[in-house]
Amino acid sequence: MEKIKMTTPLVEMDGDEMTRVLWQLIKDELLTPFVDLNTEYYDLGLVHRNETNDQVTIDSAEATKKYGVAVKCATITPNAARVKEYDLKEMYKSPNGTIRALLDGTVFRAPIIVKGIEPYVKTWKKPITIARHAYGDVYKASEMKVPGAGKAELVFTAEDGTQTKELIHEFKGAGVLQGMHNLNGSIESFARSCFNFALETKQDLWFATKDTISKKYDHTFKDIFQEVYDNDYKAKFEEAGITYFYTLIDDAVARVIRSEGGYIWACKNYDGDVMSDMVATAFGSLSMMTSVLVSPNGYYEYEAAHGTVQRHYYKHLKGEETSTNPIATIFAWTGALRKRGELDNIPELCAFADKLEKACIKTVENGEMTKDLALITTLDNAKTLNTQDFIKAVRKTLEGLL
Ligand code: NAP
Ligand code: MG
Repeated sequence: MEKIKMTTPLVEMDGDEMTRVLWQLIKDELLTPFVDLNTEYYDLGLVHRNETNDQVTIDSAEATKKYGVAVKCATITPNAARVKEYDLKEMYKSPNGTIRALLDGTVFRAPIIVKGIEPYVKTWKKPITIARHAYGDVYKASEMKVPGAGKAELVFTAEDGTQTKELIHEFKGAGVLQGMHNLNGSIESFARSCFNFALETKQDLWFATKDTISKKYDHTFKDIFQEVYDNDYKAKFEEAGITYFYTLIDDAVARVIRSEGGYIWACKNYDGDVMSDMVATAFGSLSMMTSVLVSPNGYYEYEAAHGTVQRHYYKHLKGEETSTNPIATIFAWTGALRKRGELDNIPELCAFADKLEKACIKTVENGEMTKDLALITTLDNAKTLNTQDFIKAVRKTLEGLL
């Protein structure tokens, strides 16, 4: 078979630890034998981030703006222990945070559904994609401990000096205070990313806040979504046969549990933080979650939702056998290659991405899987493979499909 040619480079962001090991295996076994990979390579591994004072992360985000599509390996977000371990010049910020800030994107997380790995919620048949707003609210709040009696007020001073005040509380004793904010521009970008992604994946979009209680703050989210929808998306949604649905967050939670899935659930920052872990766990496995950052300008960055699987990496370094699940990382590659194929009009590349995904699913459904899945599968013929052998098994299935 002749290798599939690519016309535009894909931005490749390499990463850390066990996922870096997977990255190379995936390329060697599942990609380069079939595709003439055209990538612009950025090494976001912590060693190289440190060498470049994290400039490489910025450069990779800028390249994503230039070419439109990126694929990213999981990376270490440094903490104090990592600063010591890697002798870092400073405690660099999370690469995902840096990239997201530069692309102004929204992260969509969706589970990969496989027969034999059953969701805890019996009614769920299709994936539920969670979109989390990534700016503001409690994550950019100012807080105060109130020592004793006194009056707390919200004060806004306009540029011309005029002040608007709102009483928060007349404290009779000690307590706590929090002031948070969001920006109309950020909420609108979030809304547009969600509407675009819904159109692209032909799925309904749900959005929920607590606007009955938060009549100005949350209500603004509701209003901006509705306005953007009415002005720019209503006709497109009708044409695509999908719906936009707004409800209260508590009603949404109840409906999600009773639903069969197959839609995008847009969440405010905190709701998305909590609900994405709940939905991921309820679908069965963190190692089967995909993640894509979509910018309102149409830039895409694909990755696995899990981290660098540190514990497995230390075993790997000691020469011990590992059984690390590469599926979400493979799906990051297929998502990116398919998107590149769509944008550049290379149907063979899209077809290859489809087949590689199918090969992963079929391999697991045939009973060959990594340990994380073997522990939870309902299949009775499950065979646990090590990391390398599982990737080889996927390759065998893929060759049968090609
Ligand atoms: P993690 O790498 O997601 O792993 C947590 C645990 O989940 C693992 O120890 C493993 O359980 C299981 N697991 C996750 N992915 C798996 C896979 N593909 N196959 C098999 N099992 C898998 O999270 P973490 O240990 O909290 O974080 C490690 C590093 O990743 C941190 O430095 C963090 O900063 C970084 N991180 C990066 C990203 C990102 O780049 N997007 C996201 C999250 C975390 P067992 O050990 O029980 O087998
Ligand atoms: Mg969280």
